[in-house]
Amino acid sequence: HIAPTRADAPREAPETLERRLPRQQTEERPFRPRRVLLTRAARDWPMATRVAERAAAMGAEIVELKGDRITGLKDGDPRAEYRRAKSTLAVTVASDSKMRPEPIPPSADWRFDLATGCPAHCQYCYLAGSLKGPPVTRLFANLPEILDRLPPLEGQGRITSTDAARAAEGTTFEASCYTDPLALEPLSDCLSDTIAWFGQKHGDLSLRFTTKFADTESLEATPHNGRTRIRFSVNAEEIARRFEGGTAPLSARLAAMGRLARAGYKVGLTIAPIMPIDGWQDAYDRLFAQAAAELPAGADLTAELITHRFTPGSREVLLVWYPATGLEMDPEVRTVKRNKFGGRKYVYPAPLMKDMRQTLEAGIARHLPGARMLYWT
Ligand code: SF4
Repeated sequence: HIAPTRADAPREAPETLERRLPRQQTEERPFRPRRVLLTRAARDWPMATRVAERAAAMGAEIVELKGDRITGLKDGDPRAEYRRAKSTLAVTVASDSKMRPEPIPPSADWRFDLATGCPAHCQYCYLAGSLKGPPVTRLFANLPEILDRLPPLEGQGRITSTDAARAAEGTTFEASCYTDPLALEPLSDCLSDTIAWFGQKHGDLSLRFTTKFADTESLEATPHNGRTRIRFSVNAEEIARRFEGGTAPLSARLAAMGRLARAGYKVGLTIAPIMPIDGWQDAYDRLFAQAAAELPAGADLTAELITHRFTPGSREVLLVWYPATGLEMDPEVRTVKRNKFGGRKYVYPAPLMKDMRQTLEAGIARHLPGARMLYWT
C-alpha cells in the first residue's frame, strides 16, 4: 500500500536522493538554530534574553529586528528557503488573536500555542499546508499573557462534558498542535514554566502535549502536581528512522516516557501516522513491546491512534520540502473524505483501516493492558 509516488520523475535513483534528506538523529541532540531573530516587542520579555544568551553560547547568530515583522526568510529557491527557515528561530509575541484558545477535539478541550513551527524534518509533517510561508519556528515570549487566557475556560469544552474518564483531568489544554514544544525547552524553559504554572492550580485545568524529542531532564525536575500528561509521538521503528529527520531516536523517546512516568507524570503514546508498511503487523507489535519494557508498573498511560492522511495542499507543500521522499501520497490508492466545507483529505480504504485498527488495538491490549485508548482516526 505504500508504493512510492512522486509528482515528477526523479532524475536520480530514489535511494541517492533520499540519502540527502535530513535523517533522524542517532543520538539526542538539542535544536541548535543557526540564527535567532528577536522582534522588537519580544525583547521586552525575559524569555527573549534567555533564548538569545543560550543560542549565542551554542554559536547562533543573534539578530535584533527593527520592528515586529519577521523578515529575511524569503528566497527564490524553495529548497534554500526551507533550509534557512528550518535553521532559524524567531522569538516574537503572540498577538491577541493568536492567544485565543480554540476547541480541538478529540485531542483536548482547547488548543493554545507556545510556538508555531517545528525544527524537525518529518516528511509527512502535519504542519505542511496549515502554516503559511517559510517553515520557520516562532516562539512566543509573552508566555504569562498566553497563560492568563486559560483560567476563564475552566469547565468549558466538548470533551470534559462527554467523556467521564477524561473529565477527571478537568478542562484540558493541548500545547502541541502547531509545534513540538519540547524541542524549544532547552533554549527557552517555555515548557517547564508552563508545566509549573498548571501545577500551581489556576483552576481544574490540565496540560497535555506530544513530542518526538527526548531531553526531559528539566521536566523531571519541574513541580507538575499531576496536572500534565506528556505523550510521545511514536511509530514503527522503520517509519521513525526513515521519515522523521531531526527528531530523537525512538528508543530515546520511549526511555524518556519511562523516566517521566517514574517522575509521577501521566504519560501517553500518540501512535502516528500509522502506515501499512511491509510487515506492519510485526513492526507495530515490536513498538508496543518496547514501550511496555520502559514503563513502570501502574503508569497512567493513554493511547491515541492516528492513521496517515494528506490533503491536496499538504501533499503539494511536502513535495516541495521533500522532493525525494519515498512517502506514499498517492490519491489513487486512497479513499477521499470530504469535510463540511468541501475540503478533501485522502485516507486509507475502509477495509484496510478496519484491519489496522483491530490489529493495533489488540497489540496495545496485549502489551500495554493498562493503557486507556482515547481515539482512532
Ligand atoms: Fe512536523 Fe511534528 Fe515532525 Fe515537527 S515533529 S516536523 S511538527 S511532524
